[in-house]
Amino acid sequence: MSNADQESWSRVKERLRAEVGDDVYSSWFARMDLEAIEEATVRLSVPTRFLKSWIQSHYAERVLACWQAQDEKLSRIELIVRSAVLRTAVPQKKPELAQVANVSESVNRFTNGNGAVHRPPLAAEGTGHEALGGSPLDPRLTFETFVVGRSNTLAQAAAKQVAIAKRNDPVMFNPLYIHAGVGLGKTHLLQAITWMGNAAGERKVLYLTAEKFMYGFVSALRTQTALAFKDALRGIGVLVIDDLQFLQGKSTQAEFCHTLNALIDAGRQVVIAADRPPSDLESLDDRVRSRLAGGLVVEMGGLGEELRFEILKARVQAARGHHPSFDVPAPVLAYIAKTVTHNGRDLEGALNRLLAHNKLTGHPVTLEMAEREVRDLVRPQEPKRVKIEDIQRIVARQYNVSRSDLLSSRRTANVVRPRQVAMYLAKTLTLRSLPEIGRRFGGRDHTTVLHAVRKIEGLVGNDMALAEEIEILKRQLQE
Ligand code: ADP
Ligand code: MG
Repeated sequence: MSNADQESWSRVKERLRAEVGDDVYSSWFARMDLEAIEEATVRLSVPTRFLKSWIQSHYAERVLACWQAQDEKLSRIELIVRSAVLRTAVPQKKPELAQVANVSESVNRFTNGNGAVHRPPLAAEGTGHEALGGSPLDPRLTFETFVVGRSNTLAQAAAKQVAIAKRNDPVMFNPLYIHAGVGLGKTHLLQAITWMGNAAGERKVLYLTAEKFMYGFVSALRTQTALAFKDALRGIGVLVIDDLQFLQGKSTQAEFCHTLNALIDAGRQVVIAADRPPSDLESLDDRVRSRLAGGLVVEMGGLGEELRFEILKARVQAARGHHPSFDVPAPVLAYIAKTVTHNGRDLEGALNRLLAHNKLTGHPVTLEMAEREVRDLVRPQEPKRVKIEDIQRIVARQYNVSRSDLLSSRRTANVVRPRQVAMYLAKTLTLRSLPEIGRRFGGRDHTTVLHAVRKIEGLVGNDMALAEEIEILKRQLQE
C-alpha cells in the first residue's frame, strides 16, 4: 500500500470522526483498518463480524462519502473481517504479501462460511467474560415462591410459557416485556424463568441486568473479543434483561438494539423487565421502542391486599423451614397486609423484623409487637392535596369577602387579615414556594407573603379565637 493511500486513510478517519463524533467513532471505527485500494474499490477490515454488519448497515454510505471526498473515482467499499487469531499469531512486522494472504484467508473463512465454521465454545469458556456467565441469581426467586394474584396473572402465565417452551417451539411473543413499579416482582419473575428454563435444559437462559449487559459488551469491545461475545450470545436460547431503564450511552443502546434484532430475527426468545412501558423509555430511539412494543407488553399492577396476605403467608411457611418455632398469627398477617406499603420488599422487611424480634427475645409474635415493629413501613395516609384556589375560596367565604378582594391591592382591614390568613394557609398546607404563592395572590412579592406568614404565626400564639378559626379552615380544606 502506498504512502499516499495511508495518508488518504488518515484524512478519511479524521473526517469520519468529525462527522459522527468521538463516541460513535471510537465504538465502531477505532478498529477499522485500510487493507487495500484497488481501482475503484477500497477494502477495509474490522475485527469482528458484528462490527462488519453493523457498519455495513448503518455507516456504509457515510464511509464511502468520506473516501469520495478524498478521491471521487472511488465508488465501492468492501468490508471484510480480519481474524484476530491470525493477526496475533503472525509477527507484527510482516511483509505486505503475507498480510494480504492472511486477509484473504479470513475473508474465505468468514464470508463464504455460513457461521458454522470455527465457532468458539459457548458460555465464554476461557474468554474471561463475566457478563456471559449472567448476573447472580437468588435461589428463592422461583415460580414455586411466586404468588399469583389479579395484578400479575398474565405476566406470570407468559413468563411460565417462556420457561417451559421447547427448543423448536414457535416463539409466541417476542420480546416479552414486563413492566411494573419497584418491588412488584419483576426480578422475581425473570429469575424464575431463568431457573426453570435452565433446569428444563431445552434452551440456555441467560439472565443479565442492564448494567451487566453494558459492562459485558463495553469490555468485550475494548478487549477486541466482540466476536466471541456475539458468538456466545448466539448460543443463548433465551436472553433475559432486567431493569432495562438503566441502559445508558448511545453506543450501548445501539449495541442493545442490534442484539435485540439479531436474537429476535433468529427466533430466540427475549424477555425484558423495566419500570415503565417501552413508550416511556425516552433515551431509546423510536425503532427500538417499537420493536420492544411489538411483542407482548404486560404490566404488573400493585400488589393488592389479598395478594400481600398470600405472599406473607407463603413467606412465613418458608421461614418455618429454618425456624420451626416461628409463628405469625393470621390477624398479624392481615394487619401487615393491610397497612404495609405495596412494595414486596417492605413486606419481606416487615416479616424479617418479626422474625428477628421473635428469635432474639423469644417473645411470641403478637399484634401489639407487630404494630410497634413495622410502624415505619406503614403506608402513609396520602395527604389530600390542597389547592391554592380552594384556600382562597374557603377563606373568602369564611370572612365574607370575595376571592377577587383577596387578590386585589385593597388594604382595608377587612380584606388584609383574610388575605394574610389565606397566604399563611397556602404556605403551610401546600408545597408552593413563597414567590409562587405571591404570584397566585395577584402578583405580590414573596416578601409580602413572608410577612403575612410571620404575622399570622405570631398572632395565633396569643389570639385563641384566630387560632381556632384557622384550625377550622384547615379541617375544611383537608376533608
Ligand atoms: P422488582 O424487581 O419489581 O423491583 P422484586 O422481584 O425484586 O421486585 O420483588 C421484591 C420482593 O417482593 C421480592 O422479595 C419478591 O420475592 C417479592 N415479591 C414480589 N411479588 C411477589 C409475588 N407475586 N409473590 C411472591 N413474592 C413476591
Ligand atoms: Mg428488580
